[in-house]
Amino acid sequence: MCGIVGYIGHRDAYPVVLKGLQRLEYRGYDSAGIVLYDDKDLKLSKTKGKVADLKAKLEQEISTNGNLGIGHTRWATHGQPNDVNSHPHYSNSGDLVIVHNGIIENYDALKKELKTRGYKFHSDTDTEVLVNLIEDVQVQEGVKLGKAVQIALNQTVGAYAIAVVDKKKPNEIVVARLGSPLAIGVGEDEYFVASDASPFIEFTNNAIYLEDGEMAVVRRGKGVKVRKIKDDALVDPYVQELQLNLEQIEKGGYEHFMLKEIYEQPNAIKDTYRGRMLANKGIVKMAGIDDNIDRIANAKRILIVACGTSWHAGLVAEYIFEDLARIPVEVEYASEFRYRNPIISENDVIIAISQSGETADTMAAIKLAKEKGAFAFGVCNVVGSSISRETDAGAYTHAGPEIGVASTKAFTTQITVLTLMALKLGKYKGTISNTTFMYHLQELNTIPDKVEMVLQNNEHIKAIADIYKNARNCLYLGRGFNFPVALEGALKLKEISYIHAEGYPAAEMKHGPIALIDEQMPVIVIATRKGHYEKVVSNIQEIKSRKGQIIAVVTEGDEEVRDLADHVIEVPESMESLSPLLTTIPLQLLSYHIAVMLGKNVDQPRNLAKSVTVE
Ligand code: GLU
Repeated sequence: MCGIVGYIGHRDAYPVVLKGLQRLEYRGYDSAGIVLYDDKDLKLSKTKGKVADLKAKLEQEISTNGNLGIGHTRWATHGQPNDVNSHPHYSNSGDLVIVHNGIIENYDALKKELKTRGYKFHSDTDTEVLVNLIEDVQVQEGVKLGKAVQIALNQTVGAYAIAVVDKKKPNEIVVARLGSPLAIGVGEDEYFVASDASPFIEFTNNAIYLEDGEMAVVRRGKGVKVRKIKDDALVDPYVQELQLNLEQIEKGGYEHFMLKEIYEQPNAIKDTYRGRMLANKGIVKMAGIDDNIDRIANAKRILIVACGTSWHAGLVAEYIFEDLARIPVEVEYASEFRYRNPIISENDVIIAISQSGETADTMAAIKLAKEKGAFAFGVCNVVGSSISRETDAGAYTHAGPEIGVASTKAFTTQITVLTLMALKLGKYKGTISNTTFMYHLQELNTIPDKVEMVLQNNEHIKAIADIYKNARNCLYLGRGFNFPVALEGALKLKEISYIHAEGYPAAEMKHGPIALIDEQMPVIVIATRKGHYEKVVSNIQEIKSRKGQIIAVVTEGDEEVRDLADHVIEVPESMESLSPLLTTIPLQLLSYHIAVMLGKNVDQPRNLAKSVTVE
């Protein structure tokens, strides 16, 4: 869940590692630290707070530079976010230093044992236990750093991506991964290590992505040696050429990544279906489905597992799959599913949705379903991510990097991919006619332009945000395909503005939440024309009678709701099943503007992190 960066080569390591930490800060940002090595001394500096705080501190503390460095931006799991618990962590001798992403679950038992051997601990972290375990192995067995790391990791239970440096070894960094991502950038006589490629993309396009259970010794001038942690087998590393460019991971003139990503949605949706959908010819090509069409189309049941916003995309997909492909669908929180002995058969297909492709609970859910014989399909954004590799087949969303912690374009592109899948399956199974199929494709083709039109309402939405920015609570209501959009709208508001918000199916309101409604309560209702319109209008009447403030998302030209609501935001007409791609946009903008007006850190909301690689 944190960001790891490392450099070894001929450049000054400090600017490379610091900039890398800034790029990875979306992954965790409660503390940050860096260690530099100039062949003589390790210079360590770390602090609670952001990378900017670290930078300010470093300018006073670090006198030497060096061509080797590792850094970390933390999302605390064990021990409070404070200076002491920040990474990097030294071993007791001061010779070893480590940065770690993940959780060592058996840290307590290991710690007790190390204490009996005289080790002292200064922090509350599991990480400090690991670095001392490595040191203990070095002492006990007289082995080199790489071997010591390997032996130590074989005694751990949990998840990790680590980078370790030994003062006695000025020319190497040892890295390893299990459950958390780690990439090695390969330049000319220089190497980079990082949780994703963004820290090194300006220096090299060549990267080795370590597989789960692999470690590597990265040596200046000597290259990268990869092996399996468990059985020591050497692995021939595959050097991948990356397509990512620097512009994609920078803000491009927008004040925040979130706003940039909201505005990228017309293109992102296009990129998702480009090359897959030929609307006029009635063709949908998706290799992951085409190659496994019988297995997927004949599924007795589709299980969708996901977390957070991806779970909401899964709920939309439930409606779409059942409607078009007539396959029963269950949508599960991955974290619940994995621990409740679920009934899974070989006739099930499990679809895992995850922007990062690294979500720990989702990954575990897939592994469990695969063990029980299900066919696993991944819907991820990050190419080469763990989930995309673990699944039997999959489809990337191709949304481009999403840096803002509050997910926006990932959601709409996930829905786009899932819609294409459902259409393909429906056509193959004959559960939809060719005309319906063609109609859907043509409608989908119009969505990017319609999203563009919704974005033109930005100033109007900002004005509404200004009116409601001080609300303490908010209710979001929707029905059918737009019920998950209500959940997503509420989540967006909660996560970036810290205003309490609830999403509900509109009709369910009268079974409880209606009690909350008074003149202080803004209620955001999705009331598009296609989709139980009359029923939603009745629900709006019910809110009005209780003096709630109504902000309605309506279809262009709507008069009826306009008369009832305090504010309306129009979206263009579309098919009901595709309307979430439009109705979501104003809710994203509303949350964005409220959070900005409240002075919140939109891209890095408190307590959150982008890619949840811990349970
Ligand atoms: N478990 C470690 C800690 O709490 C690492 C957390 C992270 O991935 O940032 O310090």
